[in-house]
Amino acid sequence: MQPFPTIDGIRRTLAAKAASAVEITQAQLARIAASDLNSFVTVCEEDALAAAQRADAQIARKGHAGLAGVPIAHKDVFCTAGVKTTCASRMLANFIAPYDATVVTRLADAGVVVVGKTNMDEFAMGSSNENSHFGPVSNPWDTERVPGGSSGGSAAAVAAGLVPAATGTDTGGSIRQPAAFCGISGLKPTYGRVSRHGMVAFASSLDQGGPLARSAADLRLLLRHMEGHDPLDSTSADVEPTGSASLAGLSIGIPREYWRGLDDRIAAVIDEAGAVLEGLGHRRVDVSLPHTAYATPAYYVIASAEASTNLARYDGVRYGHRADSPADLDDLYLRSRSEGFGAEVKRRILVGTYALSVGYYDAYYRKAQRLRRLIRQDFLDAFGAVDLILTPATPTTAFRKEALQAVDESGDPTAMYQQDIYTVPASLAGLPAVSIPCGFIDGLPVGMQVIAPHFAEDRLLAVAEAFQRETDWHARTPEKS
Ligand code: GLN
Repeated sequence: MQPFPTIDGIRRTLAAKAASAVEITQAQLARIAASDLNSFVTVCEEDALAAAQRADAQIARKGHAGLAGVPIAHKDVFCTAGVKTTCASRMLANFIAPYDATVVTRLADAGVVVVGKTNMDEFAMGSSNENSHFGPVSNPWDTERVPGGSSGGSAAAVAAGLVPAATGTDTGGSIRQPAAFCGISGLKPTYGRVSRHGMVAFASSLDQGGPLARSAADLRLLLRHMEGHDPLDSTSADVEPTGSASLAGLSIGIPREYWRGLDDRIAAVIDEAGAVLEGLGHRRVDVSLPHTAYATPAYYVIASAEASTNLARYDGVRYGHRADSPADLDDLYLRSRSEGFGAEVKRRILVGTYALSVGYYDAYYRKAQRLRRLIRQDFLDAFGAVDLILTPATPTTAFRKEALQAVDESGDPTAMYQQDIYTVPASLAGLPAVSIPCGFIDGLPVGMQVIAPHFAEDRLLAVAEAFQRETDWHARTPEKS
């Protein structure tokens, strides 16, 4: 089997009976065992081989269908019955959920083989995967560098060929930014397209699950088996499944605000990508999203506020880490939470609690919500004139480990937050967006972000697929194979 298989390639291999699901799973497990990227928190060898056997039996009975026998990994934020779900936190280091997330169930119904759970920033808070209780993940293109975050384990595992695809979640960029840093494709669907049931909550008005894979075509295959209305998630949208769109001469907005302060070399790479899209018959149109500069501050107030309430449930009583021999109830709460959460999570809880407190609610939380509405309106106005929006996915390529970490009180945590300037606006607006590879700088991948109107994933993926038929950036791999 080729070392960096795509889902599409695996399906053809299985359909042609050139290899069995068990053989494919064994090959992926061997690559995982040989990897030192730290991209997995848990590897489920036995369960995976049993699932592969079931897939082989099913394929023998009724031919290949769905995602039968395709190995994937789940970000360790998706609940899996019988397998630990840690969120890369000491708080949940031994937590076994009593049920599967809807995404996990749907993909299992499609026949996937889950090989394990991937490393991440604790509770999905971060942009470098350095906030993990289980240690940082290395970027397969340069192991001194970060893979991005918070879905860093998923992105690194796909980029290194340990799995053809993985799930992730994106609250402010956690699928797109690691996809960009690792040279793979990642989709954040429209808020509400993919059920959040069983996805451990960070910021509920923003969290959205989605796929990371080696191509846009594979993102589409995965989305088909992840999306859909779910009565167990009250924010899940009852909309048509993603179809295929016509592609004739789209207008693609280039928002001028996204080029301010951008590394010239990234600007040149994105410009090239725009020229490729023009070559495919689309038009580039200058647009303005005037409130872009407010997106990051608004995001960090809103996301932290929601996190502070969501994380109140970890009290040492019902589940999660519990402090030893507490003196009384307050001591139990205090020590369980002090011991269970890492520094960044505590910072967000503090910031969020402050922003929601009686005296400051209007000054911070309400103001952030107003900005959110303006940012959303910017996009709605722009989409009155253009079909899609093209931007860089990140302001830099993958940075060195520890370069942006606020290791002590004197460190500046907002240096890391600035990594998210291009991804948080679409999150605040609830829009679907992809990051796909579009070039390299000094051997490190560059990602382009394409943003679509609400529920226009069909258009988004169609353009991404056309781009990938025209270019081979997505087919590059970090090792000689
Ligand atoms: N990097 C952003 C943060 O730290 C986004 C995280 C995410 O999308 N889960 O909040």
